[in-house]
Amino acid sequence: MKDWINIISFTYPHEAHLAKAFLEAHDIEVIIKDELTVQMHNFLSNAIGGVKIFVEKDKSEEALSLLEEGGYIDKNPSEEPQKIEVFSSEYKNICPYCGGANIVRKNLPGYTFALSILLLGFPIPFLKRVYYCYDCRREWKVK
Ligand SMILES: [Zn+2]
Repeated sequence: MKDWINIISFTYPHEAHLAKAFLEAHDIEVIIKDELTVQMHNFLSNAIGGVKIFVEKDKSEEALSLLEEGGYIDKNPSEEPQKIEVFSSEYKNICPYCGGANIVRKNLPGYTFALSILLLGFPIPFLKRVYYCYDCRREWKVK
């Protein structure tokens, strides 16, 4: 019986799949959990802890250092979180940093968000909107 442990969580399924493919290329078996839930309820991703990646316990250290080398994990987790800048409304469709259009609007569920699900059974609609660029991996807000 193998002992699987959760080594990292991703907000979006495609990020977890990239990491899975990367680890499997290094002969490490990977199990992804919560993926289905996240696809059905993308906005719930943060509330349930994202898409979790599991590996065998005795491979966990190797897997983590591989993910770090591959750039899937921030090497300086103690560093200040990136400050999110606010841009004018024209940057709802285009990235203000690289000019790319490969962007997505995502919710930033906070404490109120999780609480509203617990109390009301559904999220309240007035969430902060954050935009994310798949090309340069930066985030920003729009006025
Ligand atoms: Zn960009």
